[in-house]
Amino acid sequence: MQEYDYVIVGAGSAGCVLANRLSANPHTRVCLLEAGGGDKSPLLHVPAGWAATFKNKKFDWSYETEPEAELNNRRIYWPRGKGLGGSSAINGMIYIRGVPLDFAAWEQAGAKGWSWEEVLPYFIKAERQQTHVNESHGADGPLYVQDVVDKRPIQETFLDAMEEQGIPRTADFNGVDQAGCGHYQFTQKNGRRWSTSSAYLKPARGRSNLEVRVKVQTKRIIFEQNKAVGVETDRAGRSETIRARHVILSCGAIGSPQLLELSGVGDADRLSALGIQVHHHLPDVGEHLQDHLLCKVVYGTRADLSINREVSGARLIPAALKWFFARKGPLTTGSAPIGAFWYTRDGLEAPDIQVHFASGATLYNNAGKIRAMAQPAMSAVVNQSRPESRGSIHITTSNHRDHPEIRANYLSTELDRRTMIDGMKLLLRVFESEALADSITSRLSPAEEKGNLSDDALLDYIREEAGTVYHPTSTCSIGKVVDENLLVKGLEGLSVVDASVMPYVVSGNTNAATIMVAEKNADFLTAHVK
Ligand SMILES: Cc1cc2nc3c(=O)[nH]c(=O)nc-3n(C[C@H](O)[C@H](O)[C@H](O)COP(=O)(O)OP(=O)(O)OC[C@H]3O[C@@H](n4cnc5c(N)ncnc54)[C@H](O)[C@@H]3O)c2cc1C
Repeated sequence: MQEYDYVIVGAGSAGCVLANRLSANPHTRVCLLEAGGGDKSPLLHVPAGWAATFKNKKFDWSYETEPEAELNNRRIYWPRGKGLGGSSAINGMIYIRGVPLDFAAWEQAGAKGWSWEEVLPYFIKAERQQTHVNESHGADGPLYVQDVVDKRPIQETFLDAMEEQGIPRTADFNGVDQAGCGHYQFTQKNGRRWSTSSAYLKPARGRSNLEVRVKVQTKRIIFEQNKAVGVETDRAGRSETIRARHVILSCGAIGSPQLLELSGVGDADRLSALGIQVHHHLPDVGEHLQDHLLCKVVYGTRADLSINREVSGARLIPAALKWFFARKGPLTTGSAPIGAFWYTRDGLEAPDIQVHFASGATLYNNAGKIRAMAQPAMSAVVNQSRPESRGSIHITTSNHRDHPEIRANYLSTELDRRTMIDGMKLLLRVFESEALADSITSRLSPAEEKGNLSDDALLDYIREEAGTVYHPTSTCSIGKVVDENLLVKGLEGLSVVDASVMPYVVSGNTNAATIMVAEKNADFLTAHVK
């Protein structure tokens, strides 16, 4: 039996931050447990490698939702990172923080101390910004935030098209105002993915007071009366107990509620029905799930403008060599190099939609793997920034290896449906702009034969085509499951620190906000939990 000051379960975006910050004090003994493996594979470092991690059981939990009522009862595939770095090792690397309005809403939901003014110092602390030098950005943190390496003329053309539709250019989505169109920045260092494993864990690995164990899945939390005193783990079928003075769950928006429920913390009736002994009745565990839903449009283009042919077949070889020797070329871009935040209606305090554009287009093949389309094409997706729809994640068996049941309840409110329709209309207008006229050959999806789509037809298309932007949050939300210091309500010695604690999903991609949550809570833990 071993004893630590902290055991952190999950080495993802949040877990790696905590492992670094908590073990900075050489007298503090920290154990970091990760169900997945290490991060040696080049797929986790070459930015475009992320596509190959999907549905690969080594790197991806490969969840899927239950049939979604508003999406024609389709199950939506949800990739989630498994291994050091967690989802930050397989994500699209886009660096977005959200807007002050998000954090004002957090505060109203009970997250005292999480206003924009109070979280900004932690975004800054984490950041090593390449380009923007001002009081909103940090230059000395471990998280490299860099400009797109593979800039192409078609990106400028698409930005011109967005300007033509009234969306002004912005140099920085994370500056004073999020609104506008422009290049994203990536969590990359010189063309290489910069996961939290690279940023936070690697520099701390040599510390003798930090133990990192991979391929160890935590089965349950061990309690003595009201206090968490350790965890029980499964390593290749062998059970082990690890004791600690404080237990931190950083398993993400799916894994953290799952582990609480497996440990008897959740809705008493639900757990009893599964034969799980109820330790603490906390009915909000797994509730209030939020996610961003996206819908895609695809246009055919000239072969020289699409990235597709550069990343398919034998052409991958020169692209790989370019990456290997120069850290340049198409493989430096995992997801969307450019995008926008804009409004679907007047009177909003902050943009309500986000756009991602790529000068290529992908398909899922039958095995669910992503591959570039054979024909030259480009694509863009739109998503609503602050959806109202909320779902849930709950276990359905007491076996820790079984995936929990995910119900996103996408598009379950009128506002969410309206915003997606209006977002799609804007996107289609952008593609039909003068600026893009010479670059486009045909509309591939929605199919050109469908002509101008009515609102109803667009909603039908969304129901059939929409998918996730991979941003689940809020299943162990502040004010409901944890308090403002991220301590689980009604219990001692137990925290949840990851994307699950966000009371609302932020307006944008969620990795930066998750890292901020962990940076801020590390300060609380080191000051108050000794
Ligand atoms: C495909 C994809 C693309 C994305 N693109 C972007 C993007 O471009 N920009 C952006 O900002 N955000 C993006 N995101 C979202 C962002 O990466 C996540 O919001 C963020 O990584 C969540 O961090 P987390 O710490 O909450 O969870 P994770 O990073 O998922 O970490 C949870 C960790 O816990 C481990 N774990 C779970 N259960 C257990 C257990 N019982 N025992 C031990 N270990 C366990 C998991 O294996 C995992 O390593 C993307 C996500 C995905 C999946």
